[in-house]
Amino acid sequence: MIEIDVKHLENGLHHYSFEVNPEDIYIEEFENAHFRDKVRVEIALQKWSDDFTLEGEIFARSIIECSRCLTPCDLHFHLPIKLYFKRKLKLSESDEAINLTEDDLITLSYDESTIELDGRIRETLILGIPLKVLCSENCQGLCPMCGINLNEETCDCHSTVIDPRWEKLRQLSIQKS
Ligand SMILES: [Zn+2]
Ligand SMILES: [Zn+2]
Repeated sequence: MIEIDVKHLENGLHHYSFEVNPEDIYIEEFENAHFRDKVRVEIALQKWSDDFTLEGEIFARSIIECSRCLTPCDLHFHLPIKLYFKRKLKLSESDEAINLTEDDLITLSYDESTIELDGRIRETLILGIPLKVLCSENCQGLCPMCGINLNEETCDCHSTVIDPRWEKLRQLSIQKS
């Protein structure tokens, strides 16, 4: 649970650092994105009266299989997060003037003593970590016939594979004769 106690927080800039066990932020979408190490969250929270500006960075390391050749890729992610909180009931006209939508501006009621960040961090990870990656732009993938990794080895399967377009023509000519 990542939360910041703002009950008696003084005005000014405050820094927080969290380390989260990957299991604690298990995300269904990431079935094959195995987190390595803990997910680290660095937060700078600026409080001024009823306004809170939160800027942070999420550091995560994840092992994701290349979607062509299935080689595990060790990826480091560095994702920014920025949120505004305001203690009040609803948006005012001045909030709209600086283009804050209900989504950007999170309302915090006066009796809430903590800012809870789990959901936002999970969301940032879901948007920031791709479900499919390539080990390299030129990844050759696996041979569809014998399954070897074509980045490491070669096989002579493709010489025996018939181009499907020619295969259709071949069948047509068989039917005609
Ligand atoms: Zn690959
Ligand atoms: Zn092959």
